[in-house]
Amino acid sequence: MTKIKAAVFEDVKQLEVEEIDRPVIRPDEVLVKLKACALCTWEQRVYVGVNKVQFPFIGGHEESGIIVEAGDEIDSDLWQIGDRVVVGLLTSCGHCENCRTGHEGSCTNFSYENRVGGLNIRGMGGLAEYLAVPVTKLFPIADNLSYEEASLTEPLSCVVHSLDTAEVALGDNIVVIGAGIMGAFHALLARQRGARVIISEPNQKRRAFMAQLGFHELIDPKAENPVVAVKQMTQDKGADVVFDTLPISSVAEQAVQMAAIRGRIILYSSFHPDTPVAISPHTLHRRMTKLMGSANSYSSDFFKAMKLLNNGNIDVKPFIAGTVPLAKITEGMQQALNPEAYRIIVQMNR
Ligand SMILES: [Zn+2]
Ligand SMILES: [Zn+2]
Repeated sequence: MTKIKAAVFEDVKQLEVEEIDRPVIRPDEVLVKLKACALCTWEQRVYVGVNKVQFPFIGGHEESGIIVEAGDEIDSDLWQIGDRVVVGLLTSCGHCENCRTGHEGSCTNFSYENRVGGLNIRGMGGLAEYLAVPVTKLFPIADNLSYEEASLTEPLSCVVHSLDTAEVALGDNIVVIGAGIMGAFHALLARQRGARVIISEPNQKRRAFMAQLGFHELIDPKAENPVVAVKQMTQDKGADVVFDTLPISSVAEQAVQMAAIRGRIILYSSFHPDTPVAISPHTLHRRMTKLMGSANSYSSDFFKAMKLLNNGNIDVKPFIAGTVPLAKITEGMQQALNPEAYRIIVQMNR
């Protein structure tokens, strides 16, 4: 059997480049030669042991590449060898009730540990050199978009989903808590929708970066109470929408407190540890607050994110903090763990 290389998590803080069997496509699949895979916070949490998985495990779910083989059943009018694509394998089964009712982001068979891409190791597969992919999980890349930029389609698609869930409208007062890459994407998309964007971020370098991107209503939650600051900036009304992108439970409590009447709060981040917080149910009732979670993205969100990137509506180049070849995956992971690095991208087959 032909072998390919892949970065495999063998244990906590043990990431090895190994030879595995090259995937074999079914008639309804294409073989994608991957070119780039971004190291998401999720994989970083696997690496440090916060996200528990069964080892060995292949991570990577923000990937792009080129079609090098097509199965017999592939419609050549739609997909051809040589097409550059984003692969969105981290989606859904297509069979469960949630998938079939248009809520694939809540797929009940979803697991990061499913075997995908024709690989013989569990995991999402983006850190392998090749994947077998059903065409329903492919999204076309414009000629002028690099593989590195395209690899950020998945995180952008999750933010598209979050913005749609919050129903961000023209003129809304938006607060984004946390200006990591996900917070920054929320800020950019909310501004594009005609909202006013206030950002709360304790890290000075991240605040400076957001200022460079043209965001000037910045709160340092270490220097001032962010709830009081938001109230002051909104004539005591509070925010129409609060996006909480930090994994800290106490911040979720603040997010609720800074929301306006009929405010919408999106808990976007996962929480580590998942400590319960105090929220006044009566206040939620009286103020008609909508408190919602947003996780994952749908195929429709991928298409929207892909269009934003392909059409140049959003520029993700400033978020690419560095690239490493697959052989230097551990170095790349170390760089990715720096909270000031937005995305480190692993390059394959170059
Ligand atoms: Zn991700
Ligand atoms: Zn499903």
